[in-house]
Amino acid sequence: MFLGTSGSMPTATRAPAALLIRRGGERLLFDCAEGTQRQLLRSSVGLVDLQEIFLTHFHADHMLGLPGMLKTFALRGRELPLTVYGPRGLVDLVGSLRRVLGKLSYEVELVELTPGDTVERDGYRLATFGVRHGVSALGWSLIERLRPGRFDVEAADARGVPPTLRGRLQRGEQISVDGRTVAPDEVLGASRAGRKLVVTGDTAPSDEVVEAAWEADVLVTEATFADEDRERAAETLHQTATQAAEVPRERRSEGLRRDRGAVPGARRAATRQGWRGAPPRGRPRIIGRAMSEMVHAAVAADASEAEEIQEILRAVGIASTLEPEVDADAVAILVPESALEAAKDAIESGTEPDDLVAEP
Ligand SMILES: [Zn+2]
Repeated sequence: MFLGTSGSMPTATRAPAALLIRRGGERLLFDCAEGTQRQLLRSSVGLVDLQEIFLTHFHADHMLGLPGMLKTFALRGRELPLTVYGPRGLVDLVGSLRRVLGKLSYEVELVELTPGDTVERDGYRLATFGVRHGVSALGWSLIERLRPGRFDVEAADARGVPPTLRGRLQRGEQISVDGRTVAPDEVLGASRAGRKLVVTGDTAPSDEVVEAAWEADVLVTEATFADEDRERAAETLHQTATQAAEVPRERRSEGLRRDRGAVPGARRAATRQGWRGAPPRGRPRIIGRAMSEMVHAAVAADASEAEEIQEILRAVGIASTLEPEVDADAVAILVPESALEAAKDAIESGTEPDDLVAEP
């Protein structure tokens, strides 16, 4: 549930960043900008006693709603403890809010994480990854384990399984009905792939985000600027709508996700991107490992030419990285090995021959 999607400041119709994830009976709040309590009150969920809040970073437009919400819970006489997860600096931040918060009627536990840390949960895990926003920040991936298959009511009826015993079958236990054993696989369909949902928070375009978003069913990322403000986006370490739309495309361009159809328009992809994936899923891969598969596609005379080439590659959906050469100002452009031929073609048709030092 998108409680706030407005960047930097609220508008008349949109609140700044907050996202509620409902999974079974759980309510997980990601970011808590100013006005989040009111957004919840206006939603079908209401301002429930949230047990966990996950922050991406501490810019005001992502966390100013936290003290007010903690205070409201206290005014209601809450006793249930609450845990706030966030990047390094969380303890310091909440410490500095002590005068604002006063005494609370319940315990607040603070958990500081660094990118790469995971929080293990029942049936899924929350994995964190680094983003590029110039401050202490975390991206979050909710990665479900394999889920049990769908319960076949007809099969259960045919075997005379009473409703009171069906839950045990669903949990993978064998049961006995009138002296006969019924196994879970008699009434459950094939195991279903777990889902993966990725929340980046604010970030400039980043290889690590592309990696983390790999095989996500839903990617929630940011687009603070339109494409004509690309420079301003780069200065402030944000994305443009087009860059946000490229996140799912870049990973696919490595030849791994070619089967997933066209990328929808930037506006849609900037807020959510729906994909169906197949098991097995792993934890988001670490960019360092992906780098080892990168190979030289070209060498540019200097950084600005290298960036131009990177732009040409991005236009055809190839993610690349830059690496300074040992001598002079030359910069190497590296691409995934699987995309090397396509990258060479794109560079050849998109540049003048003397743009490249190492043009054949
Ligand atoms: Zn920010």
